[in-house]
Amino acid sequence: MCHFLQGQRIRTRAAAWIDGRSAAETEGDLLFTAYGLSGTAVLDVSTEISIALHREKKTRAEIKLDLLPEMSPEALTAELARRLAAGWETGDLVSGLLPEKFGNIVAGWVPAEIKNPDTIAAALSAALKDKRLAVHGTRGWNEAEFTSGGVDASEIEPERLESKWTSGLFFAGEILDVQGPRGGYNLSWAWASGVLAGRGAAAGPRGKETEIRSGLS
Ligand SMILES: Cc1cc2nc3c(=O)[nH]c(=O)nc-3n(C[C@H](O)[C@H](O)[C@H](O)COP(=O)(O)OP(=O)(O)OC[C@H]3O[C@@H](n4cnc5c(N)ncnc54)[C@H](O)[C@@H]3O)c2cc1C
Repeated sequence: MCHFLQGQRIRTRAAAWIDGRSAAETEGDLLFTAYGLSGTAVLDVSTEISIALHREKKTRAEIKLDLLPEMSPEALTAELARRLAAGWETGDLVSGLLPEKFGNIVAGWVPAEIKNPDTIAAALSAALKDKRLAVHGTRGWNEAEFTSGGVDASEIEPERLESKWTSGLFFAGEILDVQGPRGGYNLSWAWASGVLAGRGAAAGPRGKETEIRSGLS
């Protein structure tokens, strides 16, 4: 499906499902690529999936997609039923609702054994509003946007970002187990914590601080 739809970008509601439970949910762009799924919505829910697969060694991770988030299930079912009753070809059923390339994919979801148009419409609507794709992996370390881990922030003094255990040792940025959502929060954290830790280091270790008069040295 991803390979066939590669290059297609749609608006979606995406959720990360780990062991049958929703772990994160968002709305945004979904991009189909040759290797799988991308786009802002997928990036936003990928943290939980990556941690579940790589660190917690869970094996059941899914992305749940609502491919038509602007339509309620009832409105979508009614529209599909109307199209089926009017004799539309199965390949045209989502015409105008999703990009053209989805036509053949969605046609393949029409249950062959069911002939009743209302039942077909309900089944298709359910598939479009709740499409589950098993996640087999992520793009890995080299393409990850942030580490999502590091030194436990509870072991750091928040005022100066100095280690509670080793005086004179300061931390900033991703080396700490601090992460923000997409949208510049991680860079902001890196810069802000860098200034704080730099000021702390310039002032000297805990208990022997000198006042910094002219900013960072
Ligand atoms: C592709 C991508 C896109 C991103 N997009 C965004 C975004 O849009 N918004 C956002 O907020 N964040 C984004 N991030 C995350 C953000 O860039 C990082 O959170 C931030 O740069 C972390 O800053 P840092 O100083 O802690 O670490 P880094 O920027 O990783 O700096 C660490 C530095 O230490 C150096 N280093 C490593 N080991 C050693 C060593 N042994 N000796 C000396 N030097 C060493 C490295 O070369 C590097 O220069 C993105 C990250 C990536 C990878």
